[in-house]
Amino acid sequence: MHFFKTTEKKRTLMLSVLAMLSFATFAQDQLASVAPIDKRMRAIDSISIAKMLEKEAVDYSGMALYPDWNNTYTTSYGVEMPKEYKIDLRDFHFPCESRRVTSSYGYRRSFRRNHYGTDIKVYVGDTIRSAFSGKIRIVANQGRRKGYGKYVVIRHHNGLETVYGHLSKQLVVEDQEVKAGEPIGLGGNTGRSTGSHLHFETRFLGKFIDPEKMFDFTAQDVLADYYLFSSVGRSRLLTSEESKSLPGNEVLASVGGPTFEADKAEQSKRFQEERRQSLRASVHKVAKGESLSTIARKRGTTVAKLCKLNNIKTTTVLRVGQILKCS
Ligand SMILES: [Zn+2]
Repeated sequence: MHFFKTTEKKRTLMLSVLAMLSFATFAQDQLASVAPIDKRMRAIDSISIAKMLEKEAVDYSGMALYPDWNNTYTTSYGVEMPKEYKIDLRDFHFPCESRRVTSSYGYRRSFRRNHYGTDIKVYVGDTIRSAFSGKIRIVANQGRRKGYGKYVVIRHHNGLETVYGHLSKQLVVEDQEVKAGEPIGLGGNTGRSTGSHLHFETRFLGKFIDPEKMFDFTAQDVLADYYLFSSVGRSRLLTSEESKSLPGNEVLASVGGPTFEADKAEQSKRFQEERRQSLRASVHKVAKGESLSTIARKRGTTVAKLCKLNNIKTTTVLRVGQILKCS
């Protein structure tokens, strides 16, 4: 059940449906003078938003693997692990400038315990960025002597969660949506840390994954386009070709039959609806008499930002009913 990644055939069909819908709106516009104005506006909105969602082509199914959304720290989600799951790594952005790994994932003799992430040398104040697009789940401080210090946990659309520890400052708030590469904090030395560094963790449904199994820290890139998580065999990297030769996640993941599938479909729909609402909040429909500067003022942004987001010039003439991105 891929909600966004459609086959070429379905895609063409969807596009023609969209084209038909746009035509229908156009036809409606000719009669618009008799229709209530906000009803007409809403019709245009849904189509623009459908188009924007289509353009984003984000697969939210990874988010839907989790039983719920909350801001509590845990490594156990109380759900059955999918048999296998293709984690899409293509959206990756390296979390910092530095490439220097100071401590790898695994058992640490000196501490007699496991180290569940990769430490990267950063200096206090260095920008730390989100590794993938997703939603900020936790912004918290474990205090001076305990663990992570100031940390951030992000849940990503591909099903991974990442943790960023020992920060000097967090730049995001809980429940905020972020894009891959967006700044989320500043490097630091808080918590149980000797010398400033970033503690970077990757998990899938609470199961730790060694980040160096997915990312090349020297090249600041992914090792392959996909990582096949397996709870029944060995997890491994997949090229795009290998990924295509495997069935979709809905088949790979299936553990408990039809009810499991229905749950996932329901949740995926919910995330899609949330995204639609957040997109709706991020656009502005140009009303009569509005200019770029009045819109910028109303939406708490600047003319320059509006121009950049919408790929227009300050001199561009706005049409009434035109949809502008504001964030
Ligand atoms: Zn660490």
